[in-house]
Amino acid sequence: MTLKIAVLPGDGIGTEIVREALKVFEALRDRHGLEISWQEALIGGAGFDEAGSPLPEETLALARDSDAVLLGAVGGPKWEPLDKPLRPEAGLLGIRAELELFANYRPVKVHRQLIGASTLKPEVIDGVDILVVRELVSGIYFGQPRGIETLADGQQRGINTLVYTTSEIERIGRKAFEAARLRSGRVCSVDKANVLECTEFWRQVVTKLHQEEYSDIELSHMYVDNAAMQLIRNPKQFDVIVTTNMFGDILSDEASMLTGSIGMLPSASIGEKYAMYEPIHGSAPDIAGQNLANPLATILSVAMMLRFSLNRPDLADRVEGAVDRVLSDGIRTADLAAGGASCVSCSEMGDAVCDRLED
Ligand code: NAD
Repeated sequence: MTLKIAVLPGDGIGTEIVREALKVFEALRDRHGLEISWQEALIGGAGFDEAGSPLPEETLALARDSDAVLLGAVGGPKWEPLDKPLRPEAGLLGIRAELELFANYRPVKVHRQLIGASTLKPEVIDGVDILVVRELVSGIYFGQPRGIETLADGQQRGINTLVYTTSEIERIGRKAFEAARLRSGRVCSVDKANVLECTEFWRQVVTKLHQEEYSDIELSHMYVDNAAMQLIRNPKQFDVIVTTNMFGDILSDEASMLTGSIGMLPSASIGEKYAMYEPIHGSAPDIAGQNLANPLATILSVAMMLRFSLNRPDLADRVEGAVDRVLSDGIRTADLAAGGASCVSCSEMGDAVCDRLED
């Protein structure tokens, strides 16, 4: 059966990096037997310009009718004066909410060839390969009550509520354990169970889920303050980290800096029915339209799609292997090239990856 992909290039460098990802799809289809078809649709500023909405109905319908969504990036100064619901970012948040993408995966893999790009010592980061699984649609970012209110004595107070239900914890826990089965088989659940009852509950639910359904996986627990420290002290101890919305927000940003380069980091947002894959960076208006962007984060997002949505871990390995060989061969886009070293364009980088997809 032919797999259907919704392709949403978006704005700025989004169109350029997605074009290179599509070259990879073409190569996998033509040379490696991947039965795949794709259709492009509008999102973000491009959606507003051409269809009057940052998330046109047809785009949402196409996404719902596809096996996976590939997104470039949205946004740019041109659309900043628009009302909030019409801005490109509303399209991105809208599609995440509409598709109920509750699990955010952010792999943090340090490529040995780029080790000098990190601010940490080579011996600390060499070999780092972490997957942060962050709960994305609940927790303190969504809990009620919330707001800023004025009390009878004239003082004000700000309120947010940290809340998780059993099913919300179980569904993100399942995603983490299942991801670990495709990796080194270890999950570290990060909480603040010593202080926050809600995350004490989180720990109980994760532990029970592990005992009942995933005893083949090695589970450990860590307090978030210790996890923040351990990520810098000894990041190689981690395989999969699963955690709440806010802790995941903070820890995944911290962890991304182990690699030193935003142009290298892919991501996936996954729900029970749908999944969307995108680089973690934005539309980079400063370099848009110049064929300068690094397409590797988007190409690595394709690898994640192959592994998590298309059930082709063999082809995911192949794509990741090709990216690795490109780096070993010293091929760099401008963002990766150190001090005046020669570099290739976005499209040349895409071609270089495709050339290395063979064994
Ligand atoms: P950005 O990630 O677009 O760019 C930050 C810096 O990193 C820029 O100097 C840019 O040139 C560079 N950069 C980013 N990706 C690169 C790549 N692949 N190759 C080489 N260099 C790259 O962040 P920003 O400048 O803060 O935001 C620009 C626009 O993108 C804004 O409108 C913002 O709202 C939007 N944005 C969108 C997303 C998304 O679509 N998921 C995420 C973040 C920001």
